[in-house]
Amino acid sequence: MSKASPTSLQEIVCVFGQPVSGNPTQFVMERAFEHAGLDWRYLTLEVAPEDLPDAVRGLRAMGFKGGNLTIPHKVSVIPLLDELTPSAELIGAVNCISRQGHKLIGDNTDGQGFLDSLRSVFDPAGKKSVILGAGGAARAIAVELARAGAGQLMVVNRDAERGEALVALLRDRLQANAQYVPWKGNYQVPEGTDLLVQATSIGLNDPAAPVPLSRDSLVGGMIVADVIFNPARTKLLRDAESRGCTTLDGLGMLVNQAAANFRTWTEVDPDLAVMRDALEEFLSV
Ligand code: NDP
Repeated sequence: MSKASPTSLQEIVCVFGQPVSGNPTQFVMERAFEHAGLDWRYLTLEVAPEDLPDAVRGLRAMGFKGGNLTIPHKVSVIPLLDELTPSAELIGAVNCISRQGHKLIGDNTDGQGFLDSLRSVFDPAGKKSVILGAGGAARAIAVELARAGAGQLMVVNRDAERGEALVALLRDRLQANAQYVPWKGNYQVPEGTDLLVQATSIGLNDPAAPVPLSRDSLVGGMIVADVIFNPARTKLLRDAESRGCTTLDGLGMLVNQAAANFRTWTEVDPDLAVMRDALEEFLSV
């Protein structure tokens, strides 16, 4: 509690997940609150799947300003909320709850965080993009790329059902020019690709993990982005750099999605550099 307002109540936000230890968001958010002069607290809370309805009732009852959802709650929280933003509805998952009056609104800022990070180097409108993966992160990114007017979207995934479901969503709901490509062996990135997004879990906690693709198909001028934030410099990004590509790490996506949540809750613009520094400190980058 701040010394300046010893009798006032702090605003509280949180993250619900399981397992949730090691989640960097509290560290990043509390640094950003302090920097912005906000007397807010961010709690990291271990919540089992069967306890999620009670946890959301508690969040309502105790007047939390909002919260984040991480594994395994991003989909199962939906029926417990009052409304969804268009992004959350299209993606079918919620990573951020905000309170508006008596209503809890579910949003998905993962894709927006990616897009904000991407826009620091590249505008995807009208450009050719390849997305590796069709899970939650890939879905969020593909939806926001389509909403940003991406010219062509190729979804490359091992599991055909997931890949085709994402392509159907992009075509039917967003009228995107999208194709599914089965991922077999080493993927050859097509000539003329402007943006390659690695949105699978390959490389998580393993700096040597290879993404099965032809290294020679990475060419200068291509933007190569990886969603993995630990380690920050994945093998794919190191390979892409050595081939002359522009690279974007997963820390940028994470910081920008946290910044979007911060803005929604507090109506204040956070300092992105303070958030990035905090994340790097937490991850010992
Ligand atoms: P999901 O479990 O929903 O999806 C995993 C995806 O990875 C699927 O498409 C799966 O393919 C694919 N995959 C996994 N292993 C392999 C492999 N060996 N070869 C080919 N494809 C593989 O996970 P999420 O989408 O939620 O998360 C993916 C990653 O994104 C995680 O590491 C997470 O930490 C990171 N992430 C980063 C964020 C950030 O802000 N930087 C935000 C959100 C997530 P298949 O369908 O064929 O099984």
